[in-house]
Amino acid sequence: MNDTITVNISKKWQMLLWKVFLTLACIFMVVELIMCMTDIGNDKADLGMSGGAYITLYVVVPFLIYAAALTGTLVALKKNKLTDNGADWLVSLMMFTVLAVPAFEHYNAIVLALLPMVSIVITAVFANQNITLVMTLLTFCSLIINDIRLYSLFEWKEISFGAYVTASFGLVLVLSVVTFLLNMHTKELMESIGNFTVRQMNLMTELRKDPLTGLYNRRSFEESLEKEIQRTEETGEKAYIAIFDIDHFKNVNDTYGHSDGDVVIKALCKMLKEKSKDYGLAFRYGGEEFVILFNNIELPKVINVVEDVRTEFRCYYFQFMNNSGITCSCGVAEYSKGESAKAWFNRADNSLYQAKEAGRNRTVVSE
Ligand code: GH3
Ligand code: MG
Ligand code: MG
Repeated sequence: MNDTITVNISKKWQMLLWKVFLTLACIFMVVELIMCMTDIGNDKADLGMSGGAYITLYVVVPFLIYAAALTGTLVALKKNKLTDNGADWLVSLMMFTVLAVPAFEHYNAIVLALLPMVSIVITAVFANQNITLVMTLLTFCSLIINDIRLYSLFEWKEISFGAYVTASFGLVLVLSVVTFLLNMHTKELMESIGNFTVRQMNLMTELRKDPLTGLYNRRSFEESLEKEIQRTEETGEKAYIAIFDIDHFKNVNDTYGHSDGDVVIKALCKMLKEKSKDYGLAFRYGGEEFVILFNNIELPKVINVVEDVRTEFRCYYFQFMNNSGITCSCGVAEYSKGESAKAWFNRADNSLYQAKEAGRNRTVVSE
């Protein structure tokens, strides 16, 4: 369970980054397209190549690279075959690719040449230090290549070029060290968030379960009842409540003791759980009272299941009772359209009362 949650958090990050970088790639493409069209339409602009070659270089090539990087990553993420770490690597490389394209295309704009640095910073929040290291190396490589190209492009005074190179490489170094330290802590933070969520989910489940029998408890039954009414009103399907109560259970406690009484309760719960699993859900409503909430079912099947539980319980052999057995009674009520949860439950409870009055060890169905 813990793993599932950690994976889910990572998967959310991976998909979020994919969407962010898809948006970024679209923005880059739109800007490139507008700039290309403006340059081609401007007679005075010196393209240095034919219009077709210009479009290929600045629009077609980036488009193909973005399409390959983004669709490739999406397909791999959706296939779910990669490990969590593998998916982090893939997303990081995709980020670097998307950022490196404008950096290489427009290396003459110094700010754009520094763009791949962003990939280092993003790894702080979702990836590990190895990825940060590789992103740093890739960013250094792209800076070196672009700095060499830049040097031959302008008439640099030696000092200003040296200062630019030192400042940009210094920036990458500082960023990567900060990122390295940060993602050490974000990993820990993610793990503790994961553990906390698991604990909270377990507590929520515990709140809905009865510790003795493992069945859902009364609180859970009341919630389910409201939901079932809503569902039944919407679909028009049939729903039934069957309330079970062990007969003369007080005598069992008084004769054999409370812990043997617990054995009886657990035995009935096991039967209720097993026999109702395909048709509804079983709950422990109170001490020795249980409910099955049946949905999308016809009355004969409900009677079948209820009678099956009742007769099996009657025949069950408890060692501590020697040869005397124990029975239970049951009241059943079908949901009537427009009825409240309370009214529905009360009808089933009245049927149970009638079953007790009529001599116990029987099932009564509400009219
Ligand atoms: P009836 O046939 O009318 O249902 O009689 P009954 O004796 O079963 O009913 P009553 O309500 O008088 O007694 C129910 C008993 O169930 C009283 C209570 O001590 C016992 N009980 C409730 N919860 C537990 C439990 O968790 N374990 C045990 N062993 N007994 C429990
Ligand atoms: Mg009772
Ligand atoms: Mg009872």
